[in-house]
Amino acid sequence: MTEVFTPREQIQAMAGYHSPQVDVPVRLNTNESPFPPPAGWVEALTEVVTSIEWNRYPDRSAQKLREVIAQRHGVDPSMVFVANGSNEVLQTILLTYAGHGRAVATFEPTYQMYAQIARVTGAEVVIGERRADMTLDAHEIERVMQKHAPAVTFLCNPNNPTGLVEPRENLDVLLESATGIVVVDEAYAEFADWSAIDMVSDTRPLAVTRTFSKTLSMAALRVGYVVAPAWMVEQLNIAVLPYHLDSFKQAATVAALSFTAEMEERVQLIKSERARIESKLLSHNIQVWPSGANFVLFRPQARPAKEVWESLLRDGVLVRDCSSWARLEGCLRVTVGTPDENSQFLAAIEKALA
Ligand code: PMP
Repeated sequence: MTEVFTPREQIQAMAGYHSPQVDVPVRLNTNESPFPPPAGWVEALTEVVTSIEWNRYPDRSAQKLREVIAQRHGVDPSMVFVANGSNEVLQTILLTYAGHGRAVATFEPTYQMYAQIARVTGAEVVIGERRADMTLDAHEIERVMQKHAPAVTFLCNPNNPTGLVEPRENLDVLLESATGIVVVDEAYAEFADWSAIDMVSDTRPLAVTRTFSKTLSMAALRVGYVVAPAWMVEQLNIAVLPYHLDSFKQAATVAALSFTAEMEERVQLIKSERARIESKLLSHNIQVWPSGANFVLFRPQARPAKEVWESLLRDGVLVRDCSSWARLEGCLRVTVGTPDENSQFLAAIEKALA
């Protein structure tokens, strides 16, 4: 007989995070890079595999990897913590600073994993609201900080799913009014025009997270990191599991960092394709949020979003249906793909609205 056990109260109340995949020719729903990583890196992996001492546990401190990441950002390696995707970085931050009896703040709509992981840790999630146009009012930041004194506050810049770039002043206000840790999630920073990494210092409770899943074309490898004060990195290392980063991943990521120039060149192409998608959607009278990321949020208006999503799918194009999410009524989100994929998407949207 199979026994059914009751999960913890927090888990019972949750639906989990889902990003449905459908096998279609044009997959523009999960904000990955449409390009494979450089062939030179894939070739280098054979050497990586043979160089590993497979009978030994990995370097627990991931020293070499932290050094190359630190060099990339001009910071000390003691200010870098790496994990299996930036989601695990977020989880480690929340395991360290959230939990029962503490509040975690988000400004909605934003990336759903902040609230999801915070609740899993037993923390209370407090929500700040954005304006109807999805921008964030600095007074709202102050209000949430004063009212709830959150232990952790998230600012996603550029914001997923809106694509909007946060004005620098909002982070200044947040840092002035915050009572706990401030996490700026920069999963899409390479596509935007400013980064908070240069603001990280020993005297500020600021952590900036990054990922290899987007610009660096390595979503399958699962690597993300945070640049934070050394004291914070020390505390994260207490909460995280021992040997959480395997030896292959450490060495493969070090190897990847010699190919960054090649990968960053693609950012320009994505940005120009993003501009093409935005202007074409606008020309069809579709509401579009100006994006600083590798995706575009839009509201078809002329036809219900669900019908547009289904019509796109019939034409082999999968986008993210956000229309049932709170505050995103009627919205769809498209990831910028290759020029050819984007043309297929634009043709399909024209057909859907005809
Ligand atoms: N932050 C944001 C804002 C994201 O959109 C994503 C990916 N959807 C992540 C973090 C997680 O990325 P990963 O775990 O692949 O590094």
